[in-house]
Amino acid sequence: MTSTTSKPAKRTAPRRRHVPQRTCVSCRRVLSKRELHRIVRTPDGVKYDPTGKMAGRGAYLCASRTCWQTALRQGSLARALKTVLTPEEKAMLSELAAKLGLDNGGTTADALTTPTSS
Ligand SMILES: [Zn+2]
Repeated sequence: MTSTTSKPAKRTAPRRRHVPQRTCVSCRRVLSKRELHRIVRTPDGVKYDPTGKMAGRGAYLCASRTCWQTALRQGSLARALKTVLTPEEKAMLSELAAKLGLDNGGTTADALTTPTSS
């Protein structure tokens, strides 16, 4: 009685693909990483991380300009990064918000397109 139960190595992988989700530090909405902009604190200061791969403490902001403004004004971004933003960094980030062509404060309109969790 040889128990050569050689199971097929094939494993049916779950169809569900894991989508990393992050929270916008301003509005607290949970979105997939791709929908968020990453700000990272590096030894050289706070930077925008378009690749999402930079080393350092990261914080995420959604594509709403209001969120960027609020996060800068109320300090939620600085708090999330556990740092203090210099006036230069604040200026850089608000400039960046303008450059990125973020939604101009339409958080209510955004809510309509937010996918409901299945
Ligand atoms: Zn937001």
